Amino acid sequence: GGEEASSTDEVVRDCLPLVRHLIRKQQISVREDLHAETLAAISRTALQQVLVNLIVNAIQAMPNGGELVLTSEDQVQEGRNGVLLSVADTGTGMDPEVASRIFDPFFTTKKGTGTGLGLSISHMIVTEAEGTIKVRSTPDAGTVFSIWLPEFSAFD
Ligand code: ADP
Ligand code: MG
Repeated sequence: GGEEASSTDEVVRDCLPLVRHLIRKQQISVREDLHAETLAAISRTALQQVLVNLIVNAIQAMPNGGELVLTSEDQVQEGRNGVLLSVADTGTGMDPEVASRIFDPFFTTKKGTGTGLGLSISHMIVTEAEGTIKVRSTPDAGTVFSIWLPEFSAFD
């Protein structure tokens, strides 16, 4: 596809077909709760790369099944219109010591199989777009990644 403007919710929705085979292999249910009206100031491919990184991590954190939840809503941050996206799982979660290092290049706990680059690249992409990416995680309960992105403006 091209780079024609598509709604941010549409970009989120379009990520799932890319990972459907992984979701089918495990006992994972998916819920989408998408309500953003805002168009985020980020290219479709960049946002999809970030979301697919987060979704693959979420699936890998649920080897025995669980629930993947994707949400979107409009949210003003520091007086700026934008969109808040989240990717949540009911997987292994992380200790605070791990969570503090996940955005470091090459940090991985997946011995032999992880590159440790997904989240550092995602962090770079979101920061470049003047957004924020945050994590909240509870060991043995799950993890929520939240991404805020500013609204697209033709005048920027
Ligand atoms: P990789 O997936 O190659 O290990 P990432 O940068 O994508 O590299 O993730 C870094 C690390 O962050 C992972 O190895 C894992 O320890 C942790 N992590 C990321 N997402 C999750 C998640 N949803 N649940 C539990 N741990 C996670
Ligand atoms: Mg990864």
